Amino acid sequence: MANPANVFYKWGGGMNPDFPQIRRAYDEFLVTEDGRELVDAAAGAAVVNLGHSVPGVESVAETQLSDVSYLSLSHFSHEATEELATLLASLTPGDLNAAFFVNSGSEANEMAFKLARAYHRETGNPHKSTIIGRWQSYHGATLGALSATGNTSRRSEYEPLLHGWPHVPPAYPYRWKYEGTEKEQAIAAARELETTIKQEGPETVAAFVAEPISGASIPAASPHPAYFEEIRRICDEYDVLFIADEVMTGFGRTGEMFAMDRFDVVPDMITLGKGMSGGYTPISATMVRDDIAARFENGTGKSFSHGHTFGGNPLSAAIAAHVVDQYTDSVLETGRKRGAQLAAELDELHNQPIVGDVRHAGAMIGIEFVADRETKAPFDPDLNVNKRVYEHALERGVYTYPGSGSVDGVEGDHLMLTPPLTISEETVKTVATAVLEAINEVTETVT
Ligand code: PLP
Repeated sequence: MANPANVFYKWGGGMNPDFPQIRRAYDEFLVTEDGRELVDAAAGAAVVNLGHSVPGVESVAETQLSDVSYLSLSHFSHEATEELATLLASLTPGDLNAAFFVNSGSEANEMAFKLARAYHRETGNPHKSTIIGRWQSYHGATLGALSATGNTSRRSEYEPLLHGWPHVPPAYPYRWKYEGTEKEQAIAAARELETTIKQEGPETVAAFVAEPISGASIPAASPHPAYFEEIRRICDEYDVLFIADEVMTGFGRTGEMFAMDRFDVVPDMITLGKGMSGGYTPISATMVRDDIAARFENGTGKSFSHGHTFGGNPLSAAIAAHVVDQYTDSVLETGRKRGAQLAAELDELHNQPIVGDVRHAGAMIGIEFVADRETKAPFDPDLNVNKRVYEHALERGVYTYPGSGSVDGVEGDHLMLTPPLTISEETVKTVATAVLEAINEVTETVT
């Protein structure tokens, strides 16, 4: 029977009007109401990084529920929330030691944008308000986060978005047209930001936001380290705050605790969500450098007027603190190994006529579909290549994450795999077989 909730939950333009109802989930598996077992090779939406059976969560939740589940953090503090803040500060790079808690990745980014504006106001630069994003990025569904977002298919239905939120080209080595070595191309790409800051007027620019390794719009696209070194130089030179959106890449997804750990660069803020609670509860955070947060400390008389009713509530905080504690070196190592194994099992895609690029960063894999491998031209979006691959993989019992991003103004499509870091070697083989067969099946109909 079709679920009436689908009217509200249907994403992606009619992907599947009769979504299977899930009864139960364990490890890397989802079990449907009719008893079918699916592999969750997307980890929800890159959320369930530790799988669906994290030990100890139930007892933490039970204790916290009987203790205190909700408090307004405008007037009270709580041990669980403080513990989570301390834990995150010990993990984030550099002096990103202040945590502001909200409930979703979108809210964490909204918070970062407002904080950037407030910071410049407090440092005597009230006209620095512009937030620069990148094309083919995703920062969230709320209007500010969507205005920073550059994924055209996610933006288009809601245009016009906020005025004066410019975008620069993404870090997309597969499609870069810059000259020179990989490093020179990365520097050239980063300098697009400098050009845009100059065009806008440096006295008006508050912050630049980027996913360190792209997620939903160009999965696993990762630049040469010189890219972020140059971004850091530019941001310092023009007094622009650099916000790293690690909502998807955080907590081991790309091999390190945070994707910025792969680059020798410390941003001014890092936004976190998804894997922070492993999907057990909605909670997210904006991590901020000490000297920015100090501007708004209690007693300074300077305010940062922002908050969400449920932000940092003790129940979510206690669960997240427990989950974050489980991202041990050995779990991160397992994620790296399983990601590498999956990429190796998919190696034959390099000879597949409809696949232009296969990328992987830790346990994030991106498979980009093209109509022509020479010209890298994307498929006609009406062919729904990504959604058809998704459906064929699902028929074979594997749940994946299809997506799209505009390529020179034309919608291109891809498939992303973000399995739990803890997926077994055996299940990785199941995922690879299903994805290879699904792509073969679609290839036969479009070539
Ligand atoms: N930022 C990134 C990089 C994301 O991938 C997402 C969601 O996919 C978001 C922000 C938005 O997070 P949420 O859906 O929790 O609001």
